[in-house]
Amino acid sequence: MAVAVDLDIRLIGHTAFTAPEDIDWDPQAPDGSALAEFAGRACYETFDKPNPHTATNAAYIRHILDVGHLAVLEHASATMYLRGVSRSCSHEIMRHRMFSFSQLSQRYVPAEEARVVLPAAIAADEQLKALFLRAADVSHDVYGEILQGLAGHTEAQSHAALRLKQARQAARAVLPNATETRFVMTGNFRSWRHFIAMRAAEHADAEIRAVAVECLRLLQEISPEVFADFSISQLRDGTQMATSPYVSDS
Ligand SMILES: Cc1cc2nc3c(=O)[nH]c(=O)nc-3n(C[C@H](O)[C@H](O)[C@H](O)COP(=O)(O)OP(=O)(O)OC[C@H]3O[C@@H](n4cnc5c(N)ncnc54)[C@H](O)[C@@H]3O)c2cc1C
Repeated sequence: MAVAVDLDIRLIGHTAFTAPEDIDWDPQAPDGSALAEFAGRACYETFDKPNPHTATNAAYIRHILDVGHLAVLEHASATMYLRGVSRSCSHEIMRHRMFSFSQLSQRYVPAEEARVVLPAAIAADEQLKALFLRAADVSHDVYGEILQGLAGHTEAQSHAALRLKQARQAARAVLPNATETRFVMTGNFRSWRHFIAMRAAEHADAEIRAVAVECLRLLQEISPEVFADFSISQLRDGTQMATSPYVSDS
C-alpha cells in the first residue's frame, strides 16, 4: 500500500566565524551574518564601525541589502537535509545552479515501498487521494515486476551488485513524479535569498513554495539579520508564501 510522506527539512550545518585575535571585533554572534559583516568591513577596514547608523550587525546587513552589495553574503552558507520531497519538486530545486546537492540514488537504493508526496490539492480530497495512492501502488507493483523480469535477463552478469543496479536503473523509469526523494542541499546566503525570492513567491509551484518557506524559517533562526526582511503570509488556499521588499535584486 502506497505511503504518503510529509515534508521534513532539517538544518544540518551552517557557517561559524572566528575573527582574528589581532582585530578588535565584538564576538557578539560568531555566525554567518557576522562573517558577512566582517567581509564587508574588510573592503574598507572599517572594523572599528565608525558609522553609528550601521554599528549593529542587523543595521550593517540592512545597509548591504539596501546598496545591493550582496557578494558579501556569499561567505556564509547553510546546509539542509530534505526528506519527503517529490522527484518532480527536486528537479525544480536542482535548477538552482549555485547550490551543491547530494541526492538519494534510485540506482543503488531500491524503492522497497511506494513512498509518495501527495500534492496539497489532491490530499484535500479523499476520493482523489485514494485514486492517487492507487496509481502509486500500481506503478510500484509494476516496478517490482520489471525488477524481477530483468533479474532473469541479466543473470549473465556475474557481479551481483551491478546486476541489481542495472535492473533498478531501468525499472525506476516507471515510478511516478510523486516518488519521495531525499537530498542534502548546501548554498551560500545569497543563493538561499535568491532561491526563496523565486520559489516562496505566490506563483511558484505549491510544493517547492512549501520547501522554500520552510527553509526560510530555518534560516531566519540561524541568521535573522540576513533573512528577517522576508515575511511569511498565508494565501487564500491555506498555503504559505514569503516575500521581501528587496526581492527584485535578491
Ligand atoms: C514560477 C516559475 C516557473 C518556472 N517555469 C519554468 C519552465 O516552464 N521551464 C523551465 O525550464 N524552467 C522554469 N523555471 C525555472 C527557471 O527558469 C530557472 O531555471 C530556475 O528558477 C533557476 O533560477 P535562476 O535562473 O535565477 O538561476 P540560479 O541557478 O538559481 O542562479 C542564480 C543566479 O545566478 C546567475 N546565473 C546562474 N547561472 C548563470 C549563467 N549561466 N549565466 C549567467 N548568470 C547566471 C543569475 O543571475 C541567476 O539568477 C521556472 C521558475 C519559476 C520560479
